[in-house]
Amino acid sequence: MSYAKKPDWLRIRIKSNQKIDDVLEILKRFSLHTVCEQAQCPNIYECFSRKTATFLIMGDVCTRNCTFCDVKKGNPKELSTDEPGMVAEAVAALGLEYVVITSVTRDDLEDGGASHFAQCIRSIKGKSPHTKIEILIPDFKGNFESVLKVTQALPDVVAHNIETIERLYPCVRPLADYKRSLNVLRMVKEIDKNVFTKSGIMVGLGETKDEVKGVLEDLRKAECDFVTIGQYLSPSKNHHPVFEFVHPDVFEEYKEFAISIGFKFVMSGPLVRSSYMAENAKDIIESI
Ligand code: SF4
Ligand code: SF4
Repeated sequence: MSYAKKPDWLRIRIKSNQKIDDVLEILKRFSLHTVCEQAQCPNIYECFSRKTATFLIMGDVCTRNCTFCDVKKGNPKELSTDEPGMVAEAVAALGLEYVVITSVTRDDLEDGGASHFAQCIRSIKGKSPHTKIEILIPDFKGNFESVLKVTQALPDVVAHNIETIERLYPCVRPLADYKRSLNVLRMVKEIDKNVFTKSGIMVGLGETKDEVKGVLEDLRKAECDFVTIGQYLSPSKNHHPVFEFVHPDVFEEYKEFAISIGFKFVMSGPLVRSSYMAENAKDIIESI
């Protein structure tokens, strides 16, 4: 376990920039949040400059209690019916070419918020038909009807993060289930083979290399197309600790392994987040 100083490869300077300020001003105008600013993502300058952003819908309070995550936990507010329209307006105003839509987990809602996701997808398509849409969904408690609703709205990519190895689920994702998460990805492919699926893993939480490779194999068995692998950084001393700062060479090894077992798109590196360089998969999406 380590609260040691970050190694050099993780030290980056977040630049203040007019472009970021312009984006933040538009987000404020539409009362929207992005994961990019909320999580103080180190890639914000790069992503906003490349016209990519990750919107956080359905509020900022989560009904789950993952120990690595800094999102507020508790009882969320009612859904805003204006939100799908606002997200679509913001995507158009920002001229985004690729947008990622994600949410907290809303176990309080009957369909887990699947209809709301579907409405956001349809609204964006109506206003920005050329923008590629990736949705990063919760597990909807493994409910097939909810996965069906979001997949039938035809996003380009449906992502669901597995986050970590199965052994660490009880302490890292106590209200989630490793096999259920794999099954969510499998369901998307059962519903529509042409929708790409994607998942993400964090490393440095106490897993071994073989366990990470085991997760990658499980994801491929669930026909997952794209994967991201990034370094876990603990938000505070009250969160799950960082056990290891994984060396960039090991990320490279994971990348080579993932490609060798058939992933179509792999991002693996210390600063990789699940939506990092998501738009680089555009060529693959457009080839279908
Ligand atoms: Fe936003 Fe994802 Fe880019 Fe971070 S990596 S700035 S969360 S789009
Ligand atoms: Fe955070 Fe997602 Fe876990 Fe909620 S379900 S605590 S948003 S990682």
